[in-house]
Amino acid sequence: MKMIQKTGLVLFLIGLGAFILIPFFGSYSIDEALVRANTKDIHQEKMAEILAPMYGETYSSNFAFLGAFGENFNSYNDKLKDQALWDQVIWDDYRFALAKAAVSSPVTENPWHFLFLSIGLAVLGGLLYNLPSHAGEPEGIKNNGIFHSSMKAKGWLGMLTGSFLILFYIVLYWYPAFMVNLVWMVNPISEMLSGNPASQWFLYGLIYTLAIIVMGIRMFRKYRGNKYQQLRTASVMFFQTAFAFLIPEILVLLNQPYFDFKNIWPLDYDFFYDYQIDTFLSSGGVGMFMLIWGILLIIIGVPVFTYFFGKRWYCSWVCGCGGLAETVGDPFRQLSDKSVKAWKYERVIIHSVLVLAVVMTAITIANYFSGFSFLGNVTNQLHSFYGFAIGSAFAGVVGTGFYPFMGNRVWCRFGCPLAAYLGIVQRFKSRFRITTNGGQCISCGNCSTYCEMGIDVRAYAQKGQNIVRSSCVGCGVCSAVCPRGVLKLENGPEDGRINELPIIIGNNSIKLNV
Ligand code: SF4
Ligand code: SF4
Repeated sequence: MKMIQKTGLVLFLIGLGAFILIPFFGSYSIDEALVRANTKDIHQEKMAEILAPMYGETYSSNFAFLGAFGENFNSYNDKLKDQALWDQVIWDDYRFALAKAAVSSPVTENPWHFLFLSIGLAVLGGLLYNLPSHAGEPEGIKNNGIFHSSMKAKGWLGMLTGSFLILFYIVLYWYPAFMVNLVWMVNPISEMLSGNPASQWFLYGLIYTLAIIVMGIRMFRKYRGNKYQQLRTASVMFFQTAFAFLIPEILVLLNQPYFDFKNIWPLDYDFFYDYQIDTFLSSGGVGMFMLIWGILLIIIGVPVFTYFFGKRWYCSWVCGCGGLAETVGDPFRQLSDKSVKAWKYERVIIHSVLVLAVVMTAITIANYFSGFSFLGNVTNQLHSFYGFAIGSAFAGVVGTGFYPFMGNRVWCRFGCPLAAYLGIVQRFKSRFRITTNGGQCISCGNCSTYCEMGIDVRAYAQKGQNIVRSSCVGCGVCSAVCPRGVLKLENGPEDGRINELPIIIGNNSIKLNV
């Protein structure tokens, strides 16, 4: 390892270590926190009464503070629930807001210092690690020693990284009150961009964007001889930074709804939720434009662009989940399961999620127009279930946390309902295909190994058969790693796009369509 890489690794580890330790700093006091936390007026007095035993106390850790809060708050709510006094139960979750208002730590005093010490050093370290001089190195994509790498081949380092990511997502989605110091740390940036204090989602958006930028720069270096890879990497970096991160924050600064113009239903599963529709309708011309733009993307944008370019226009060039998978997830792409069994599971699971999203949305819209008389409670339960199981557990915890276990496209391959929709169009009505010059194939298997969607590309190449698969995201890496130039991503006439070329086995003409 070169000196510059070693320095980068050390800086990254210091930054990561600081990021892990920062949540544990500081002390917590409930005095004044209720007012600062913007607790709803109707709950102010009641909450002060419930939390009275905590007044005057100073808690030395977030565990102690949240433990005491839970004890008082839950015993109040549990009593009401036992007596079935549902309308008096406080359903709002105030833990994050209260913990953020109650904490007093060096981080709240000097957020910039801690921001530099943690995220700043991690970014700097990541850049240095990924950018050693490659002078003298021959052109070409290096995947040297990939199956001997503890990180990239499910060794202990990969397991540790995956476990850390899973833990991070669990805390982010369900226990954000434990990360209030980290949120304080990014508060100044949030105030600058939107004029609002930071939430855990702002922290997440910032880390997500920086991770795509740092690892995107790594992609530029790794695939430096390949224009297609360079362009689509630049594209996902741009869409994440501008469309997913900056523009929504600036819209809020301008008193407009928070909106990501490139997020499409059903990936953006709450697009038709009543509070979203109300927000659009009450935000004048801009809100109306957002509503119409979102609907046009669903019914015109997806089919038309996918017809001409395949699903790659979105999955590999625009999407934020795809952007993370293609940059941060690139070192893990070879871990995708290529078995036929995995393919079968993939089809059942992803289409089930699509059906669930469609049913949930249909009920939501019917409910909205019937003045909430139509299955009101079922709609709420469906929203909660979908948000928990698909929006958080599948897309976040499994979707990213499992990179080091199952490859970088677990969510896109098995769970994303938009990928399923794009895939149906790509399979049945598109000009996109990967053509294979079978005569040149030497069966090295590089293409199958590095296909992140688990497609056995080699099997098609050996037969000279076009690859027309609903799951192919058109990342082009199979083509990039092929030493013989066998594979070509093309948009062409629909005629002859699907060419079934079965392998004939033995004398009995048994046909094997793989
Ligand atoms: S078949 Fe090729 S282009 Fe399609 S997802 Fe796999 S590696 Fe990417
Ligand atoms: S990488 Fe190229 S040569 Fe190797 S198996 Fe795939 S198509 Fe054939």
